[in-house]
Amino acid sequence: MSFLKKIFGGGPTLDADTLVQSTDPKQVAQIDLLMHFSEPRQLHDLGVQQRWSRALPQPYTETIKLFTKLGWLETSPQGQYQVASSLRPQVQAYRERLEREKAEIMPQVRAALERKETSEALTLRREYEARFPLGESGWTGPDPQLSHSSLTRRIFFLDHWILEGLSKATQDWLKLYAAEQHLWGATWHVPESEIPEAVRAELTRPDMSAGEAAYWKAQEMMLYVDNQETWQRCKGGDHVRRIEIAGPDDEYTCETCRPFLGKEYLVVRVPELPHRGCTSPRGCRCRYEPVIEMIEDVEA
Ligand SMILES: [Zn+2]
Repeated sequence: MSFLKKIFGGGPTLDADTLVQSTDPKQVAQIDLLMHFSEPRQLHDLGVQQRWSRALPQPYTETIKLFTKLGWLETSPQGQYQVASSLRPQVQAYRERLEREKAEIMPQVRAALERKETSEALTLRREYEARFPLGESGWTGPDPQLSHSSLTRRIFFLDHWILEGLSKATQDWLKLYAAEQHLWGATWHVPESEIPEAVRAELTRPDMSAGEAAYWKAQEMMLYVDNQETWQRCKGGDHVRRIEIAGPDDEYTCETCRPFLGKEYLVVRVPELPHRGCTSPRGCRCRYEPVIEMIEDVEA
């Protein structure tokens, strides 16, 4: 106790078990920061340190010093920091808390999406992310644009050849799955056991399980609404004259799509995506990238 008093001058002490359970944002920030040192690593970049400093009760470097004094963080000769083994149980408990919170919020968002209430779903996502010290959960996508929920909404109203040949039930199931991933800005595979039997039977292919087929179909659906948005934004503004067709160039890229990769087009002439003739088992993964004009380009 006298050891702690020396550090805190007799003030309130820091208790790791309290931090794990706390709902006070500044306390949460402390345990969250510790979790970032589960594996040995250097201190964060200066810009990130500043963001942490705003979330923590005291500046980032002070906090690191304090954690080190408390024996919560250990340093290696290479200047790396890592959570001490004595603090591992608390960090693990915090990790489990985060898993529980994720398991609580995801069905709430899904329920909102089932009602097609995409802006309510986005509000739930934002509230969830705001609980994290830097406003990032670590598994969700980048900070969404204002228009994000209306884009997610478009997935429900997709009437496109990419869904051709699928029953309405399967289309609806895929739309909900794609909308959920789009809303979170994250992707995941659904275990076969969680796919309704009829949907599973319809999606299973000789070369692909239903879960895998659903994943790539949902990717294509999300990409379609995002590409539409990019194209409309470029067409409506006068800052972008050209669009590049970009996408992965790997063993799954088909001969229809490959020649387009890296090519630039005037906005009004850019080929429609997805490519009708795409034969990739993963569907067309091509996307529109607005070309940012360089001064040299303009001169040329
Ligand atoms: Zn393609």
